[in-house]
Amino acid sequence: MKKRLFTPGPTPVPETVMLRMAEPIIHHRNPEFAEVMKRVNRNLKYVFQTEQPVLTLTCSGTGGVESTFVSLFSPGDAIISVNGGKFGERWVKMPQAFGLNVVEVKVPWGTALQPGQLLDVLKKNPGVKAVYLVHSETSTGTATDVKEMAKLIHANSNALVCVDGITAVGAHEMRFDAWGIDVCVTGSQKGLMIPPGLAFVALSPRAIDMMQISRLPRFYFDLRKALKSYEKDDTPWTPAISLIVGVDAALEMIRAEGIENVWKRHERLARALRAGVTAVGLKLFSNSPSFAVTPVWLPEGVEWKAFNKTLKLDNGITIAGGQDEYAGKIFRVSHLGYYDDLDMVTVMAALERTLATQNHRFAPGSGVTAVQSVLLGRG
Ligand SMILES: *Cc1c(COP(=O)(O)O)cnc(C)c1O
Repeated sequence: MKKRLFTPGPTPVPETVMLRMAEPIIHHRNPEFAEVMKRVNRNLKYVFQTEQPVLTLTCSGTGGVESTFVSLFSPGDAIISVNGGKFGERWVKMPQAFGLNVVEVKVPWGTALQPGQLLDVLKKNPGVKAVYLVHSETSTGTATDVKEMAKLIHANSNALVCVDGITAVGAHEMRFDAWGIDVCVTGSQKGLMIPPGLAFVALSPRAIDMMQISRLPRFYFDLRKALKSYEKDDTPWTPAISLIVGVDAALEMIRAEGIENVWKRHERLARALRAGVTAVGLKLFSNSPSFAVTPVWLPEGVEWKAFNKTLKLDNGITIAGGQDEYAGKIFRVSHLGYYDDLDMVTVMAALERTLATQNHRFAPGSGVTAVQSVLLGRG
């Protein structure tokens, strides 16, 4: 039986990327590496749709976000942080740990931030230095309209627009320059299709200016150092060389497909899976569904542990469960990164086979038919 991963990080790694990473390691202080880094830097700009620097850090996505807090702010600075799930919650706790004054905007799980709610908070808190938003909240499979929110933030404040794009970059449209985004972070094991271990941070000119006056202590995560090295296609510390070689190959694949096509593919796969699970009588969890991951309510009488076990042991499929109060209540199927149409047919077939063993009543084949209809442009 083949093993198939449908989790929102790590995500499957394409064979061409694995083969590149299996080549003998090169040294990072030689021209061979600078050539790779130069291409990676250029292609990252394309993926983020920016002319601004996109820094590559050796750490997971969380480290990438930490680098932005410690490099941009000073003790006591006020920021707004939108919390609609596990990751939003992390971007409340983390800046608090660094002594920032965090105004938390709570959004119910599975719903998107409303412009009116953000506007209210902006008006009540003039002088905030930044607003942190999660573009695709992975714990709830919910997307935020970052383009709209950025417009609203710029019209009503001087705050930087800072985006956790960790499961959005490569799945949702992201136009860093055109939308006036100031900070956007992603991680390697999500839309960029390589194993965990790298984070990528795009910075606007305003964010770069903030780095010069920020007074929080930092060393490894000092983005001023990273930026200085970046200008020479270098890194300040030993980078995860094999992963950088891997992301070079992955970015070439994205470039060949075209970033707009990559976004469209994610939207199509998400729409197809949503149609499939709905057709077998399941309910969607999010009212603003992400294109990266689809969260679904477990139907009445189906127990998560047994469902997950059958999916994994009898079908080779790994998906994600719910978190916190939604543990055991929802499941999440990822289609972020290296997925195509037939992967959605496969995962829907596996969901049907599993539901059939769990006494859930539905017309067998109806989910797969619905998935196919959307993929074939008939849904
Ligand atoms: C995965 C993820 C993170 C955390 O990234 P790590 O690589 O696990 O540190 C942050 N935000 C979102 C939205 C994520 O999906």
